[in-house]
This record gives sequence, structure tokens and C-alpha cells, in this order.
Amino acid sequence: MAEATEVTEAAEANASAAAGDAPGGPPGGRATLAPAPVSGRWSRREAELEIYEAGVAAGMGNAHDLPLDSHMHTVRSPDAAPDALLDAYCALAVERGIAELAITDHVDFDPFAPAYAFSSFEDRERDVRQAAERWAEHGLAVRFGIELTYERRYEDEIRGWLRRHPHDFTIGSVHSGPGSVYEPANVAAFLAGKTLAQATAPYFDEVVAAARSGLFDTLGHIDVVKRYLAPHVLPEQFAAQPELYEPALAALVDSGTALEVNASGLRQLPRETYPAAPIVARYLELGGRAVTIGSDTHRLGWFAYALDVAYRLAASAGVEALAFRRGGDRVWVPMPPGPTEGA
Ligand SMILES: [Zn+2]
Ligand SMILES: [Zn+2]
Repeated sequence: MAEATEVTEAAEANASAAAGDAPGGPPGGRATLAPAPVSGRWSRREAELEIYEAGVAAGMGNAHDLPLDSHMHTVRSPDAAPDALLDAYCALAVERGIAELAITDHVDFDPFAPAYAFSSFEDRERDVRQAAERWAEHGLAVRFGIELTYERRYEDEIRGWLRRHPHDFTIGSVHSGPGSVYEPANVAAFLAGKTLAQATAPYFDEVVAAARSGLFDTLGHIDVVKRYLAPHVLPEQFAAQPELYEPALAALVDSGTALEVNASGLRQLPRETYPAAPIVARYLELGGRAVTIGSDTHRLGWFAYALDVAYRLAASAGVEALAFRRGGDRVWVPMPPGPTEGA
């Protein structure tokens, strides 16, 4: 636990320092950020492995009897583990009563990004359609999806490509790409002296554009920037400035794009979903109806990880049915009955 403890201490020290910069202002409001003094031997990977293992010990690996996981990566994604095999996922889904899966491997448009031309559309579609045939008799539905990295500079290209390459279900996501200010090597220098609004603007501006583009069924992990800025910035600092989310939520509502509740944050440094519960509630308050839920698994051990937590969170926020698409028009998948507390 040594590394994980260091993260917490460093981040807490930073949070107090940041709060101290804004006497009398809104909590965390205009405070400028300073990189947390992360120890040289601190490893994000090790810290997140510990968070994951603690979650498994707490039962987060046991989600079962749920209608849908709409965000999953296989070995057709460059950042997936060798055991992220479609049939292995399907076998687990049948065993655990997860009725429907959307396979949403990465596709990038930046030629320097890892998922640029990593897997062809044809290979991805053949894998998924054949698995769907094999597993239908076991009562499992498998859909052909995509997680496409949205960047404004490629919007026209993406629009044309998506038209020529239809999927059952599309996720648009903003990621930290090559040379991004959010890359681990750049992030500390980038955020020094900035307010949280300034530090998140490059990310949220792209999210707003992704929502306005109307290209996607849902937007993936709309505040994964919480992870990019960790451990320098705490989730509590994001929670203290919900106004940072307003333009993105408004753009989702206006364009009819769904909001994803992504469970992967529960096994990562933020230790909460992307986004957290109050943001989901605010989206509904603004008139948003379409919510999707995904585990964002990239390895077999992450199958459906904390998916039940994400479901409870959505149910508590007032979501009665999940938005989805199986090719064609949007469909609604009823939320399972069950307790809504405990999210
Ligand atoms: Zn993603
Ligand atoms: Zn993903």
C-alpha cells in the first residue's frame, strides 16, 4: 500500500494548498493548481493496481445479472491485455448473467495515436458478428460497437468514415493523445499556476465539440480528465466546481447524445465513476434522458468490474432505462429491479 498512501498524502497536501489560495472565494474556485510532490518511485500503474485489488476484495469484481455492458475492449484495441479475448468475455457474461455486450474497440484518427489503423473495420466486425452467432444460442447478445477518439480537427473525416462504416453502437471519447498536455510527462508543468477551469479547458472544449457533432450515440467517460490530472488534482476539486460540466451537459442534451456512466474510474486514481453521481443527476435535471453504462474493460479480470455500482448510481439518479442502439434507431433497455441505495 506504500505507493497508494503516497498518492493520497501528496494529493491531500495539494488540495489544502489549493484551497488556501482562494480565501473567501468559491470552494476551489479561482485557486490555482500546483503539481503534487509525487515521489520519484510513484507509479500510476501500481497505484491503480492496488485500487483495483482493494475493490476486488470489497466485492466489486462480482457484478452479475445485469442487462448490458456497453463499453468493452478486446485484443483489437492496442491497450488491451492479451487475455481480453471476445470468447472469454462471452463465457463470463453467460456465467454471470450479463445479457448483452457491446464490443467497442478503439479507433483513432491521429496517425501517431496507438489505435490508428491498429485493427481494420473488417476484422473488428467479423470477430464480433461471428461471436454473436456462436453465443446467441447461449442467450447472449453481442453487438458491434466502437470507441472512436474524437478530435475537432478530424471531425469531417470522422463523419465521412462513420457513414461508410456503420456500427450497432458508437461511443465518442476525448483522450489524451500523443503530445497532449495531459500526457503524464507534460501534465505537472501544464497545470502549474492554472485554475481548474484553465487546466480542464482543452479537455472539456473537445467534449463539448464531440457532443455538438451529433456523431455518436454516447460520449465515453466525459470527465476522464480527472484521471489525467491525478494525483495533482483531487476528484473533490472537480466536485466543488460543477459549473465546469455545464457546457458539456447542455451540448449532450441539445444534441440528444447520451451520457455514459463509466465504471473504470472506480479502479483508477479518481476512485469514482466518470462522471460522479451529482453530474448524472444534473444531466437529468437539464432534460437529458439518455444514459449508457459501461465497464470499459481492457482485460479479463476487469470484466463487468463495478458495473453494478454504476447501475445503482444511475438508478439513484433517476434513470429508468438505459439508452442503447443495435443498429437502427435508439432503443431503451429497462434497468433491472433492485435496491437503488448504496451507489
Ligand atoms: Zn476511452
Ligand atoms: Zn474504452
